[in-house]
Amino acid sequence: MQTNCLVLFSGGLDSILACKVLEEQGIRPIALQFVSPFFGHELLGSRDTYCEKTGQKYGLEIHLIDITEEFLKMVIDPPHGYGRYLNPCIDCKILMVKKALSVMKDFGATFIATGEVVGQRPMSQRKDTLRIIERQSGAEGLLLRPLSARYLPRTLVEKKGIVRRELLPAISGRGRKQQMKLAGRYNIHGYPAPAGGCVLTDPILSERFKKIFETWPNFTKVDCIAAQTGRHFLLNDKSWVMVGRKHAENLRLESLSLPSDILIKPAQVPGPSCILRYPSSHQAIEIAGSICARYCKHDQRLPFKALILSQCDNLSKTILVKRPATDQELKKWRF
Ligand code: SF4
Repeated sequence: MQTNCLVLFSGGLDSILACKVLEEQGIRPIALQFVSPFFGHELLGSRDTYCEKTGQKYGLEIHLIDITEEFLKMVIDPPHGYGRYLNPCIDCKILMVKKALSVMKDFGATFIATGEVVGQRPMSQRKDTLRIIERQSGAEGLLLRPLSARYLPRTLVEKKGIVRRELLPAISGRGRKQQMKLAGRYNIHGYPAPAGGCVLTDPILSERFKKIFETWPNFTKVDCIAAQTGRHFLLNDKSWVMVGRKHAENLRLESLSLPSDILIKPAQVPGPSCILRYPSSHQAIEIAGSICARYCKHDQRLPFKALILSQCDNLSKTILVKRPATDQELKKWRF
């Protein structure tokens, strides 16, 4: 009977190759792609199409698994700390392997594999870190890194001869030459660039997320998604103003607005949609109106009317904004 293996799949070349080298040994790789508000969440909107298309492209069976709930709890204080920015890579991997372990039976799988390469990343792919991930996820002996397995202790499937270690590639280090060569051999093209896709490695967004975690300890998944669109301002009373920079962002922010939010739009001229979240003073509406005015294409000396919409209070009214926010104010509130 064919042995099934769950492969932690990022969509990048290394995890595709991990699937391919196992397949070559008669193993059935089942690719699990984990998603959270920080990576891959947009795929959930077209789950079936994505799995089918990407699966066909690489000849793989792909399943998306949403780990938002567990990830949000972990990311605020990861036991192994953060990488260069707000990326908790070690705990992220522990979480993913744990999750894979918990569904192993459902997929009839015998072991788990990843596309990790010894020495490729400074923090999460050091030899000792790979051991920590294996041990702390509870997958001891069950976690195979096919691309680098020959540099690592034997796993159960290697000991049992289910996977033949001597036939696995021996890849290590930061270079990509061997991976490219293997990609050519398996006829894999058009794969995404390495290290893309996780917004926790983005310096600007990392700072913004950090501010969100500190300011609103009960932050939600929608906050983390909304933080990735438009300009953001934190007012003195801890109200959050989000401002679209273009039409698509206006629509996106509006679609992410909550019943408790206040939506502010210019009443008479073209301009941005602004979302006021967590407002704790009436003054916050006026300030959000002044920020909206500042980003409108109109003569800033003329009176400006803003439309205020609140689903929660069943409110729709127009206010006169006294003056647009100054550059200095915007700088002070921007995050
Ligand atoms: S870069 Fe992001 S998705 Fe990748 S391991 Fe680190 S935290 Fe997880």
